[in-house]
Amino acid sequence: MKKEIIIIGGGIVGSTAAFYLSRYAECNITLIDSGQGNATRAAAGIICPWLSQRRNKDWYRLTSQGANFYLQLMEDLKRAGVDELPYRQTGTLVFKNQPHLLEKLYQLALERRQEAEMIGELTIYEESNLGQLIPELETDQGAVLTGGGGRLDGAALLDILQKLFLQKGGTIIHGQARLGKHQTVQVNEQELAYDQLILASGAWLPQILEPLGYKVDIRPQKGQLLEVETNFSSGKWPGCMLHGEIDILPFDQGRLAIGASHENDKGYDLTVDSQLIEEMKETAIQFIPALKNYPISKTRVGTRAYTSDFLPFYGNLNDQPSIWVASGLGSSGLTSGPFIGWQIAREILELKNFFDRRPFSPDRYIKK
Ligand SMILES: Cc1cc2nc3c(=O)[nH]c(=O)nc-3n(C[C@H](O)[C@H](O)[C@H](O)COP(=O)(O)OP(=O)(O)OC[C@H]3O[C@@H](n4cnc5c(N)ncnc54)[C@H](O)[C@@H]3O)c2cc1C
Repeated sequence: MKKEIIIIGGGIVGSTAAFYLSRYAECNITLIDSGQGNATRAAAGIICPWLSQRRNKDWYRLTSQGANFYLQLMEDLKRAGVDELPYRQTGTLVFKNQPHLLEKLYQLALERRQEAEMIGELTIYEESNLGQLIPELETDQGAVLTGGGGRLDGAALLDILQKLFLQKGGTIIHGQARLGKHQTVQVNEQELAYDQLILASGAWLPQILEPLGYKVDIRPQKGQLLEVETNFSSGKWPGCMLHGEIDILPFDQGRLAIGASHENDKGYDLTVDSQLIEEMKETAIQFIPALKNYPISKTRVGTRAYTSDFLPFYGNLNDQPSIWVASGLGSSGLTSGPFIGWQIAREILELKNFFDRRPFSPDRYIKK
C-alpha cells in the first residue's frame, strides 16, 4: 500500500514540500489549506538577506542559503515546464541617509560576498546617479546596489507549485484541518489517515498542536501592503529597501508593491487599516514623487509567524517523529521558506541534507 503524506498549510513552505515530494515520492500526498491569512500571498517579495544588520549567525546562514536555493528552485521549475518564472534577480538597492553608513554597508557586503557569491556586483550609488537605475526616483540619500538581489511574486510561486503538484497526482483540499486521534486529520467532515504529517501552518501552529497537549512559542504579526499600477517602465528596476520598514518592489507593467507593516499587537486581525496604508504610500512618495498621481489599486494583509527570539524552527517532533513542523519564519520567510520546505521533503524521502538544522530544532519552541 502507498504511504500517505498530509501537509497542512499551503504557504511557501507547504507548497514547496508538496512540489518536491510529488516529484520523487511514491506516496499519496494531500495538501490542505484554509487560505486564511496566508502570509505568502500577502508578501512583497524582496529576496536579499545579505545586507541585513541582524547579527544572529544562524539566521544569516539559513536566509543566505535560502536565497541561494532560489536558483535551484527556478531550474527545477523550468525543468518541470514553467516558462514564466515568478522570481527574477533585478538587484536590490539599500538606502542610507549618511555617506559613512553607506560606506559601512558596502564594506559589510564586500566581506559577506567572500562566502556568498550570489550577492553579485556591488556598487555605491550617490543620490545624483540613482536616476540611471530608476528615472522617477528623487532623493537626497545614496544606496548600495546588490546585483544578486531578487524579487518574488509570492502568489504566483504558490500557484505554480500547486499546479505542478496537482499534475503529479497530488490532492488539494480547501478547508480547516484538525488533528484527530491515531495519526488522523479531520477536514470538511472527512477523516484522513497519515504516515507522515507536515504542519506548515504558519502562525496557526499553536492552535493545531494544542489538542495534542503542546504549547508553541509562536505569535502572530499582522503585515499590510499596498499596490499601485503605474505607467512606469519598472520591469527592470531593482527593489528598494528604504529606511524603517518600507520597501518598494517593482514588477512588470508598472506594478509597484509598497510595504510592509509589522504589527505585533493586532493578533490575527486581517482588516485593512486605511490610514496606515496611506502613511506607507506617503513614505514611498518621498522617494518617487510621481507616485502621488496613481491611486492605490490593491491592498494585501497577511499574518506572519514569529518566535520569542525571532528565529524560525523546523524539523520533526521529538516524541512524534512522523509529525514535521515549520513555523516562525517572520519577515524573511519568502527567503528561507522554499529551502525549508525542500529540506523537509528530502528528510521524508530519506535523502541526505548537507545543511545543519540543529540550531532550528523545534524542541526549543514546542513543549508538551
Ligand atoms: C505583508 C508581508 C510582506 C512580506 N515581505 C517579505 C519579503 O519581502 N521577504 C521575505 O523574505 N519575507 C516576507 N514576508 C514574510 C513571508 O511572507 C512569510 O514568512 C512566509 O510567507 C511564511 O510562509 P509559511 O508557509 O510559513 O506560512 P503561510 O504563507 O502563512 O502559510 C500557512 C498556511 O497555512 C494555513 N493553515 C494554518 N492552519 C491551518 C489549518 N488548521 N487547516 C488548514 N490550513 C491551515 C493558513 O491559512 C495559510 O494559508 C512578508 C510577509 C507579509 C505578511
